[in-house]
Amino acid sequence: MRDNEFTKILGWPGYRVYRHEINEGTKSLRLWVRRKQGNRKLICSGCGRRFSDAHDSNEREVRDLPWGEYRTTVIIEVYRVCCPECGVRIEKVPQLPSKAPFSKRFEEAVGLACESASVRQVARQFGLAASTVRAIDLRYLERWSATRRRDPLLEMGVDEIYFGKQMKFITVVSDLETGEPLWFGQDRKQETLDEFFRTQLNATQRKRVAAACVDMWRPFTNSITQWARNCRIIYDKFHILQHANKAIDEVRRAEFFRKGGRMRGVVKGKRWLLLTRWMNLDQHKRQQLNQLFALNRRVMKAYLLKESLERLWTYRYEGAMLRYLQSWIAQLRWQRLAPFQKLAQMLVEHLDGILNYCRTQVRFGVVEAINGNIKSLLRRGRGYKNLAYLLLKAQRMAVTKTEFIVFKKAA
Ligand SMILES: [Zn+2]
Repeated sequence: MRDNEFTKILGWPGYRVYRHEINEGTKSLRLWVRRKQGNRKLICSGCGRRFSDAHDSNEREVRDLPWGEYRTTVIIEVYRVCCPECGVRIEKVPQLPSKAPFSKRFEEAVGLACESASVRQVARQFGLAASTVRAIDLRYLERWSATRRRDPLLEMGVDEIYFGKQMKFITVVSDLETGEPLWFGQDRKQETLDEFFRTQLNATQRKRVAAACVDMWRPFTNSITQWARNCRIIYDKFHILQHANKAIDEVRRAEFFRKGGRMRGVVKGKRWLLLTRWMNLDQHKRQQLNQLFALNRRVMKAYLLKESLERLWTYRYEGAMLRYLQSWIAQLRWQRLAPFQKLAQMLVEHLDGILNYCRTQVRFGVVEAINGNIKSLLRRGRGYKNLAYLLLKAQRMAVTKTEFIVFKKAA
């Protein structure tokens, strides 16, 4: 094979192979390339200015995509330019995206592999260290992110994720329309969300935010009211139902301790059943629950209350929604279900944000799905001390839908 055939197969626009070396023993191929005759314009990698003269030249060695079983290394002649703005700088070469010893398309292959496999698996596949794979993946995602068009944020979601003992809580801001996380902030204070509004949006963009789907968490709502004047706050259905689940769990536990002997055996181990919606249970599981209900009226009442609360969000008119909530609360009378009374109190205190759903029907469940995706990323890879990397990863996941988990809540 001649060098110009090597040039064709290599397919680096503007570059030609002028020397090659094949080592059958180590299954490696080395190709020396330099600019083609007509490709003489040099671009400063600092500022993009064009030059026709080089300051000096050098060789760089990068790993490229394999040729069959042969691991391929390209040795490329690169120039430095003497730029009035940046000083002596290396020229910009499309196939050399960074200082790391890999070609752009090699990095792209690694980044793509990282979308559907763990870092460890990709590292094994390409014969790289896990830390190298992570660094390549990060650059791959940064390049992708840099070329993206950003839609204005109209409906936002705010949630928190517990990151474990060291990092504690992370605030996650997301775009409800694209289903994509936009920003991570340390902690879950008012200042945390303030920082998002201050650093990520300008005054016009803040004014355009029309709705926010949040938990009943005062620091967040305080921040939103202060920064986004036109933003309507809507309490997330899933978060409210989580509170209902907590209430039913409290009732179950109280009954477990209140009643002795035989009753204990019946209530015990039914936690999951009680947290699952009736429609998601099979015949056998329903029977089990019915048995429990026959013996304990209070647990049954609690379960029915939780089940019926969800109907609240089927209403489209404020008046109807409010009437339904009132009748739901009226059912609590004489029941002595303290956890549910507490929940009712909470709902009344947050009435505006519940009724707001009739004015703006945000997509519930998006926040939960994003949350689920982030948690699955965390479980899968350990290298997320870098929050920026995790954010890019979650964004890419949302956009490519490679692993978009529809988070099935036990609500
Ligand atoms: Zn320059």
